[in-house]
Amino acid sequence: ATWTRGTGWHDAAVVPYGPLQLDPAAAVLHYAQEVFEGLKAYRHADGSVWTFRPRANAARMARSARRLALPELGEDAFLEAVTQLVRTDEAWVPSGGESSLYLRPFMVATEAFLGVRAAHEVKFLVIASPAGSYFPGGVKPVSIWLSQNYTRASLGGTGSAKCGGNYAASLVAQEEAGAHGCDQVCFLDAAEQRYVEELGGMNLYFVHDDGSIVTPELTGTILEGITRASIVELAADLGHEVRERRVSIDEWREGVASGRITEVFACGTAAAVTPVGKLVSADGELSHGTGQAGEVTLAIRERLLDIQYGRAEDTHGWLHRLV
Ligand code: PMP
Repeated sequence: ATWTRGTGWHDAAVVPYGPLQLDPAAAVLHYAQEVFEGLKAYRHADGSVWTFRPRANAARMARSARRLALPELGEDAFLEAVTQLVRTDEAWVPSGGESSLYLRPFMVATEAFLGVRAAHEVKFLVIASPAGSYFPGGVKPVSIWLSQNYTRASLGGTGSAKCGGNYAASLVAQEEAGAHGCDQVCFLDAAEQRYVEELGGMNLYFVHDDGSIVTPELTGTILEGITRASIVELAADLGHEVRERRVSIDEWREGVASGRITEVFACGTAAAVTPVGKLVSADGELSHGTGQAGEVTLAIRERLLDIQYGRAEDTHGWLHRLV
């Protein structure tokens, strides 16, 4: 669909996949006025197709759009677009294992205008791509590079918005992680370079030896992960005390070294729940546990995937039927 200032949203349609025509002066190409979302369609054993908390994605997209001076798309319009696309492409929703159809709604400023101001023409699109299991060979812990040269977000910035610019700014740190043999990069807060924020595309959780679990609190610089929010509730269902508070990098290191932190895991739509096996930084390497996924991590992972794939009762009312 297209949004034009004064007219609002118009021309919604499902069209065959293909290149987008953009004017070379389109605002998004110069000023990155863009936001996006990521969610999945899951096929259940009876053939039906569902998404997980799509209204949370719609609400987050509205918050991101507001921060990027983009127009708001209503939750119902967001849901309608996703529903129509999945119904059209139903054959592409895989079944079995942990495969799914990844959905990528996004909004871009298309107005051809080189002045620096909010664009008067914007497009909203949804594309889809089948996604196989994140861990085809079984769940394996990932290694994390601690970024000490770059931060991802500062107060008053766009950290809690899902906008392309945040990811553009994080790529050099992800490259650095790769150069050090790590799978993911972890960012600290920009003000003090001391508090753990999140990974390039996932939020973090720390499991303590008393059974409590801790995740960095939302300070306006962390993406409000929908998986993160769901795990706050699922972990409580499983009997864990859940705390949202600041976690310093020293607490992480000392906690793992002393055994007070027994497991660390990351979470997000793409991988659901991923154990962390190692923290690497310029100061050296810190291995976590035995190199295998921890018990609490696996239990939370299973609980979440069982709900998403319809193998467990959806006690929180998180599933939304598409087909
Ligand atoms: N943090 C960042 C920076 C992300 O890109 C993502 C993926 N959207 C997440 C956290 C996890 O969010 P969600 O659980 O909504 O996928």
